[in-house]
Amino acid sequence: MLKNTRTAMRSGTLQRVCKNGGRLFHSSARYPLGIAFDIDGVLVRGGQPIEGACKALQQLFVDPQDPCQIRIPHIFLTNGGGVPESVKALELSSLLGVKILPQQLFLGHTPFKTLKDRFESANVLAIGKGEPCTVMSSYGYRNVVSMEEYVEHFKDIDPLAKYKKWSTNNDIRKNTKNVYSSNKAIDAVFVVSDPVDWGRDIQVLCDVLRSGGYPGRSAGNQPYLYFAADDLEYQAAFPVERLGMGAFRIALESIYNGISKTPLVYTSFGKPSVPVFRGSEIALLKLAEIVKPDVKHGNFARLYMIGDNPYTDILGAKQAGAPWFSILTRTGCFKGEDNHDQYKADLVVDDVLEAVQYIMKEHKIELLQH
Ligand SMILES: [Mg+2]
Repeated sequence: MLKNTRTAMRSGTLQRVCKNGGRLFHSSARYPLGIAFDIDGVLVRGGQPIEGACKALQQLFVDPQDPCQIRIPHIFLTNGGGVPESVKALELSSLLGVKILPQQLFLGHTPFKTLKDRFESANVLAIGKGEPCTVMSSYGYRNVVSMEEYVEHFKDIDPLAKYKKWSTNNDIRKNTKNVYSSNKAIDAVFVVSDPVDWGRDIQVLCDVLRSGGYPGRSAGNQPYLYFAADDLEYQAAFPVERLGMGAFRIALESIYNGISKTPLVYTSFGKPSVPVFRGSEIALLKLAEIVKPDVKHGNFARLYMIGDNPYTDILGAKQAGAPWFSILTRTGCFKGEDNHDQYKADLVVDDVLEAVQYIMKEHKIELLQH
């Protein structure tokens, strides 16, 4: 049953829908609803499912193990990443107990697909935890080098390397055909996921970006620079939020602008960027066509963003405007009693299960017993 405590909601009449065989039908060409779930702090925290997350997702399927029997189109819209969408889909499916398709994953770096034609043959430096090179290669970029592989070409570029006792195995593609040479200029830098070694990465990026892509040489035009997201903080296993890619961007920008004659030029993707929400709408429409292939849907009557971060999830949905409706959970970054002071959500709930129960009730969709 929907809990009715501590909720803050805007009034709004949702269009009436009816059910047929577990699937949703609507009298107009508009699809009644779609849902975008944030992952960290909503469904997962510290690598474990948040209480109620599995139960909430099961309600979206006729059969949770059959992705062709989705009752409600839904995607996973996160600023996180570091692995290809297909890998993340398998990880989440295993963790949350439902079948999740790669096309349901909209990761921080997913918009980098749209830049492929521009940089397909360019020399690209990919940075971050996980497998940044594999991600970029999966999007069609042909000449990608990881930071770990790149620094190997420059003796003494990181004077602190000898003090670093840890070892990383960050996507060093020793078997790749694209053997990188220090004689090649870096044309573009993509920060794919959270950088691991901030000191080294800021140093090397300052070198690359100040020198026209040739570390150790004199000043040149800044190569292109893209960030997958701009989160200042995110909720992980530790009780207090951790610094995210936005914090890294601030550190890099501050230092770069202190040592360079020209300010840093960059583009950040991820929530709360409006184009990311527009891209999500397209992904959700494609899923709606799977749910009901006999109708060509023009758009949605209502789209829900369920997130824990007012600065990314809620602000993003508000900036995107109708038909987005924002739901803020208390299982991650936001821990307030009422609503966020600055970015007020349309609805505040304790957790994702309460959010899904609210949606089902509003749209008069039957709760299933799986
Ligand atoms: Mg989150």
